[in-house]
Formats: sequence, C-alpha cells, structure tokens
Amino acid sequence: MDFELSDEHRALQALCRDLAQEVIAPRAEEWNRAHRFPCEVFRQLGELDLCGPLVPREYGGSGLGMVGYVVAMEQLGQGDQSLAAGWNAHCTIGTLPILDHGTEEQRRRWVAPLARGERLGAFALTEPGSGSDVRSLTTRVTYDGDEVILTGRKTFISNAGTEISYGVVTLGKDPEGNFVAVIVPKGTPGYTQGKPYDKVGWHALDTREQIFDEVRLPRDHVLGDGRGGLRAFLASLDAGRISVAALAVSLAQAALQEATAYAQQRRAFGQPIARFQAIQFKLARMAAAVEAARLLTYQAAWLYDRGRPYTKQAAIAKLVASETATAVVSEAVQIHGGYGWVLDSRVARLYLDAKILEIGEGTNEIQQLVIARQLGC
Ligand SMILES: Cc1cc2nc3c(=O)[nH]c(=O)nc-3n(C[C@H](O)[C@H](O)[C@H](O)COP(=O)(O)OP(=O)(O)OC[C@H]3O[C@@H](n4cnc5c(N)ncnc54)[C@H](O)[C@@H]3O)c2cc1C
Repeated sequence: MDFELSDEHRALQALCRDLAQEVIAPRAEEWNRAHRFPCEVFRQLGELDLCGPLVPREYGGSGLGMVGYVVAMEQLGQGDQSLAAGWNAHCTIGTLPILDHGTEEQRRRWVAPLARGERLGAFALTEPGSGSDVRSLTTRVTYDGDEVILTGRKTFISNAGTEISYGVVTLGKDPEGNFVAVIVPKGTPGYTQGKPYDKVGWHALDTREQIFDEVRLPRDHVLGDGRGGLRAFLASLDAGRISVAALAVSLAQAALQEATAYAQQRRAFGQPIARFQAIQFKLARMAAAVEAARLLTYQAAWLYDRGRPYTKQAAIAKLVASETATAVVSEAVQIHGGYGWVLDSRVARLYLDAKILEIGEGTNEIQQLVIARQLGC
C-alpha cells in the first residue's frame, strides 16, 4: 500500500493550491455576496486543463483520473466552496452520463467542449415531486418521427443558467416506462429556466428550475440507444459522491486550519485560547475526523481509477466526509466565539456552505440505503 502522491499529483496539488490562494480565495467573498458564478475563473481552469479530469484525452480531457481529481478538489475547495461545487457538478454528473453512455458522435460533439472548459456541464434529474425517489419522476418523453419531445420540470439544477452553460442532460420516461436521457441545449424553443434560488450557502453557485414545455429536438439528442438512461444517471451519481466527499474534506480542512490559527492568536484569561486543553481536544478531534474522511475518500477514488466496484466506498466516503464537514465547521465556529458568527469571517461562510453536503447528490439517508443494500440488506 502506497500513501505517497506521485510527482504528477504533487505538481497538480501545488498548482491548485496556488490557484486557490492567489486567484480564488481573495475574490470568493465578492462572488458570494453578488450571487455570481465566476465563469472567468472556470475558463481559467479550462486553460489549465482542469475541466475534464475524468475524460480521456481523445475527447478533450486530461485523463487525470479520480485520485488526481480528488487532489485538485482538496485544494480548490479551500479557495471557495461555491466555485468548487460548480466544478464538481461539471466534472462528474454534468459530463459522465454523456461520456460513459453517449454515442461516439455525442462524445465528440458535447463532451469535448465541456472537457476543455468552454462550456459548463449541468445534470437535471431532481423534480419538484421527486428527489430521492428518482424512479417516480414525471418528465415525459415521446417520439414523433425523427424527433424527441420532452415535457416536464426539473428543480434545484446547478450550472445551467450561466453565460457559459450549454444546457442540460436530463432524464424523462417514455410511454413504455423506459428512462430516457436527453441532451437539451440552451435556446431550444420550449426550454426555459426559473430565477436562481436564494440559498442558505453556495451563494455563488447558479441553481435554478428548468422547464421543458413540448421541447422538440432531433433524435440524436437522446443519449446512447435511448435505453439505460437511469443506469447512466445513477452511475454518474456514484462517481459524483466521491467528488462531494472530496469537497467536504476540503471544507473540513479549511475549517480546521482557520480554527487552529485563530486559537493560537486569540487570548483569554491571559493566554492564547490554544493553551486551554478544552480547545486543544476540540482541534485534535477535528484533525482526526478530517484525516479519516480524507482516507475514505482517497480509497474510493483509488477503486474508481482501477475500474473496481466502488459504489459502497463512494457512499461511505460521502456519508462520513459530509458529516465530518458539518461537525468540524460547527466546532470551528465555536472556537471563533462571536467572531465566527459574522459573515465577514471565513469560518461563517464555510458554516453556511457545509449543510448542503449532507443533502446534495443523494441525501445521507440515501447513502445509508446504498450502503445497507451493498451489505445485502
Ligand atoms: C444547492 C443545490 C444544488 C442541487 N443541484 C442539483 C443538480 O445539479 N441536479 C439535480 O438533479 N439535483 C440537484 N439538487 C437536488 C438534490 O440532489 C436533492 O435536493 C436531493 O437529492 C434530495 O431530494 P429532495 O430535496 O427532493 O428531498 P426528498 O427526496 O424529498 O427527501 C426529504 C427527506 O426525506 C428523506 N428520505 C427520502 N426518502 C427516504 C428513504 N427511503 N429513507 C429514509 N429517508 C428518506 C431524505 O433523506 C430527506 O431527509 C440540488 C439541491 C440543492 C439544494
């Protein structure tokens, strides 16, 4: 077993750390207050070959793999959680259904511009009446000659409303009950979007409703052979869970660092609060939890890269890492006292950004169902 990062991964880590510290973190507060996704920084990630880490070179990606992706996410997520959340949805659920289940022509047409960072990927599964219970979705897919027609509503969809969004890959059901995935480009008649949600956290992430009103598209917009749409979506959610776990690790790590630095400089009763054993024990438990979550996340990524089954490990990593993030950031706010409760402090922003990690891309209750099923229950 080798816990060393390769030279390539170390170079990637240094690149992403510099980006996070010099480009992302200094402007993150501005984007979050303006509720604006920083497309210009996303494009910069594309220029650095960071927007198709799970996509082979022949389709415009870097072929970096999941371990490399997690290395990059650990750093970028410490720069800004909203940007990293958008990058996460782009690299995994926004791209993988088309890459893994699309035709050769679809990969070249739709995946390549995503992997180069020219376009932002979006995945539209959740509906107003069906989130966890995916199979109960009601978006209708019918066919008329060489055209496919889509009618329905998708809710809480990230990345679809920015100036570099291309549209969405979405899922509906045909009259026989088959799940059909369809690529819907922006500007298609009948396809509109709602206003961005006013969210508790991830303020710079674009998240909106998507409305399909008799949207007609050529049949080559149906993913693959028109069957297996549900499998395509569920498989990319499995991979997305490793990514959300890495995002959670980055948040927990940032909160731990903030709290440690604050405890060393904040004085009470004549000494830095870091001298109190009560504070030291908090920091020690936070550090232990972050390390455990990190190892689980890398284990799941390692399995993914080797083509081994990873569903259970991805769900475990997402469950543990997201709970670690909410617990660690809560303690980090506690260590900051009142200063942790004002939005100017970085730890307060992290606190707002944490809870969604237990909800998005499968709630933690659903992760437990996935794990229990893998145990044979
Ligand atoms: C900021 C944000 C961004 C998002 N981005 C996207 C996106 O890009 N694309 C997309 O498709 N979706 C997206 N989502 C939607 C997200 O994936 C769903 O909110 C999530 O899957 C939960 O679905 P729901 O909100 O309908 O909750 P529900 O499914 O209604 O669940 C409500 C509660 O019941 C629990 N529950 C449900 N079923 C069970 C069960 N069988 N056993 C035990 N407990 C259960 C849940 O765990 C939860 O606690 C986003 C959501 C947010 C808030």
